[in-house]
Amino acid sequence: MNKKQGIIVVVSGPSGAGKGTVCKCLTDKNPGIFLSVSATSRQQAEGEIDGQTYYYLTEEDFKARIKNNEFLEWATYNGNYYGTLKEKVENQTAQGNDVILEIDVQGAMQIKKTYPHAVLVFILPPSWQELEKRLIDRNREDMEQIQKRLETARKEIPFADKYNYIIVNDDLETATKELESVITAEKVKAQSCKNIVEQFKNNI
Ligand code: ADP
Ligand code: 5GP
Repeated sequence: MNKKQGIIVVVSGPSGAGKGTVCKCLTDKNPGIFLSVSATSRQQAEGEIDGQTYYYLTEEDFKARIKNNEFLEWATYNGNYYGTLKEKVENQTAQGNDVILEIDVQGAMQIKKTYPHAVLVFILPPSWQELEKRLIDRNREDMEQIQKRLETARKEIPFADKYNYIIVNDDLETATKELESVITAEKVKAQSCKNIVEQFKNNI
């Protein structure tokens, strides 16, 4: 039987909602689901690994790759460039692996145009107070940066309407299971199984 083409899952949500944490929990348990590693011009934070957390590029290099058409999508977020490298994603889906793109709302809208079958998931925190608390407790940015992220979050949250699924990340295990269920359901959608049905029809 034909191996199915992998699906593209876009995960967005305000900074601090727990996108990275939920996606890591999911991919640690599921070897067939890959988390796309984006490129960014932002500074590498403590504990982050080049090539695993992001590919860290200079702004100049990032812009050259935009010109070279190397990105599936890209956007600026709080003054830095972020983008998904085309080659990495297409290699994985062609091998039947599912790929999660953890990207902002601008990038998500670009992916929706390029891949209308991509599934879009928006992760919300349980409350605004909890979002602020998570950003502070994460201890990755100073207060000025955190305020900027919260300002951006105010603009991002209304985009949740444009997504296929909304997951509230209150309990981590529940949120991870919900994301896993979304992917399972998308993979058995009739639309995703067309080649299998065709193959069957040819052998009746
Ligand atoms: P994002 O990728 O959306 O910016 P992170 O995954 O970095 O968010 O999570 C932000 C902070 O919140 C981290 O310190 C993380 O450990 C914490 N966190 C994530 N999910 C939960 C949860 N369900 N309950 C409590 N804290 C969480
Ligand atoms: P952070 O600096 O917290 O790692 O990421 C900031 C924001 O950039 C998050 O909303 C994250 O989802 C988004 N982001 C990360 N990688 C990409 C990408 O490749 N493309 C786009 N459009 N956004 C990204």
